[in-house]
Amino acid sequence: MSVKIIITEPNKILRQISKPVNNVGKDEQSLMDDMLETMYAADGIGLAAIQIGIPKRIIVMDISWTKGEKKPMYFVNPVIKNKDNDKSIYEEGCLSVPNQFAEIERPKNCEVEYLNYKGEKKLLKAEGLLATCIQHEMDHLEGILFIDYLSKLKKSMIIKKLLKNRPDRIVV
Ligand code: ZN
Repeated sequence: MSVKIIITEPNKILRQISKPVNNVGKDEQSLMDDMLETMYAADGIGLAAIQIGIPKRIIVMDISWTKGEKKPMYFVNPVIKNKDNDKSIYEEGCLSVPNQFAEIERPKNCEVEYLNYKGEKKLLKAEGLLATCIQHEMDHLEGILFIDYLSKLKKSMIIKKLLKNRPDRIVV
């Protein structure tokens, strides 16, 4: 396992649409291991493969992680089957949009069909934080970031801050 570099906005790679995975084999499993290690090292609760530059429909999550207990979840080719009309609002952040947060409204509950780490077909009924987190991660697979839901002004302010905080580039 190894920790990978997380790509941050603005970067065109994050705007790619990720491709479905044909088969969950050793390569995909070692990618998921790397993604999980990268996510834990960055103190995140979710990571999509595209955030480390790999355009595959793979997500790792662990929403219990902040409580100290590790309960990793793996989603390959996730598809939302059902969405609630009820909405909930969470303050969201993203490892690809460092240190920026905003309140985002999303369906409160959703059902997601996916393949797990072993390639088995599963159905998850998600609500609350879990539902928000999986929807945020699935947006990454479509090249969408949470800041895309904000007003143009708010979004451009955030991007300006991100560019300002970026370390200086050294050309040698
Ligand atoms: Zn994110």
